[in-house]
Amino acid sequence: MAGPGSSLRKALVVPPGTRVHLEGMDPGATHGHDKESAGEITAADLVRLHDLQYRIWAENKHKLLIVLQGIDSAGKGGTIEHVVGGFNPQGCRVHAFKVPTAEELAHDYLWRVHPHVPGTGEISILDRSHYEQVLVVRVMGLEPEARWRRHYDEINAFERLLVDSGTTILKFFLLIDKDEQRARLQDRIDNPRKRWKFRMGDLDTRKHWDDYMAAFDDALTKCSTEAAPWYVIPANRNWFRNLAVARIVAETLEDLNPKIPPPIEPIPPGLKVE
Ligand code: AMP
Ligand code: MG
Repeated sequence: MAGPGSSLRKALVVPPGTRVHLEGMDPGATHGHDKESAGEITAADLVRLHDLQYRIWAENKHKLLIVLQGIDSAGKGGTIEHVVGGFNPQGCRVHAFKVPTAEELAHDYLWRVHPHVPGTGEISILDRSHYEQVLVVRVMGLEPEARWRRHYDEINAFERLLVDSGTTILKFFLLIDKDEQRARLQDRIDNPRKRWKFRMGDLDTRKHWDDYMAAFDDALTKCSTEAAPWYVIPANRNWFRNLAVARIVAETLEDLNPKIPPPIEPIPPGLKVE
């Protein structure tokens, strides 16, 4: 088993070309970490992330796209709050994808996604994404199979285009189990502060749990590429989910080695502002 010192990136990435079986994966895994020390580790990573994002924004060279997927209540919103909350809103964008509008449905499914990919210096976070086209669309039969089966290749081509244009892509699948979802949905029903998040439709989606897991298996298997890898994040424990995502984003940005650029024009030595 991986200890706290070993790379979570390596442990959690879906190696391209391997078949994913979510059923055999542990949503409660902690990879040698414990809750007591996790807070400190994550806090230190958030400080790192804040500095890295400042440098990315200043350098105006790299672009980072973060995709979050997971079943209802898996913690996409919580991940954004805790991990992305450390970024300066300047240079950072978050977009949540909902049931497509009439205008969106009148276009191809990538049409509504493309405007939300990052430009240079930016980090974009997608809460749901183009992957819904091989998840809810597949499970609920919103398109014939012959149509949605083509989307995996289309998605890989789209992501390839973004990567060829200088984008770094990180895709996180937040894995919880069915019992954990029961507890979380029940809490949304019982807790007045969370009731706004609950929709009766969440119970219908839950009835299709196995179909969703099969759809996730296929999406992760077919669309984890060298250029745009998927990570499966054990997410039953929020503290581990936050630690893992913060760590993987920080290590990825560190590899980009963003640098504060030199001044736009030379500044005479000893210049004083009067
Ligand atoms: P939430 O993330 O809880 O705000 O819910 C958003 C809802 O939009 C979920 O039920 C998704 O399944 C649904 N949704 C997102 N994208 C699509 C899509 N392309 N087609 C149909 N439903 C979608
Ligand atoms: Mg919801």
